[in-house]
Amino acid sequence: MSNAVYPGSFDPFTNGHLDITQRGAAIFDELLVAVLLNDSKNAMFSVEERVTMAREATVHLPNVKVLSFDGLLVDFMRKERSRVILRGLRALSDFEYEFQLAQMNKQLAPEMETFFMVTDAKYSYLSSRGVKEVFGFGGAIHEFVPPGVFRRMRERVRPRGM
Ligand code: ADP
Repeated sequence: MSNAVYPGSFDPFTNGHLDITQRGAAIFDELLVAVLLNDSKNAMFSVEERVTMAREATVHLPNVKVLSFDGLLVDFMRKERSRVILRGLRALSDFEYEFQLAQMNKQLAPEMETFFMVTDAKYSYLSSRGVKEVFGFGGAIHEFVPPGVFRRMRERVRPRGM
């Protein structure tokens, strides 16, 4: 049985993430969306909220599971008995970072393989950061995120520092 882990910050989970998750779930028997507990990134949502939003958005996908993790991705993957890291690629600007990350993970754990899925053109401009920026300036974000994420973002008064 094939399985893969799709790791990220998902702060918040966007329609671009959902697209990669759906397409990944159609390729692998099981796909684990792994939400990174990352204190160094100034997250808008707690890791619990990010997990809940990703779960809500993927509830229609029976072979997708959402969990959080802390520390090294490769340690988490060993624990979850997975050898495939799934990542999405938007523009050339993603490539350098993703390339470094994939090589670093290969050094740390040679048995792991990183698979890249190219974004659907309609999501190529979409990032969690962009969504937060547009939201911070009062712009409409409902086209960019799943309904549950939209609801939670609206429940927030305009976040401080944005
Ligand atoms: P990071 O892990 O750098 O914090 P994110 O949580 O924003 O990144 O995203 C997780 C993964 O999803 C990354 O591989 C990123 O390139 C990919 N991704 C993000 N947005 C999109 C999109 N619109 N289309 C395709 N892939 C995307």
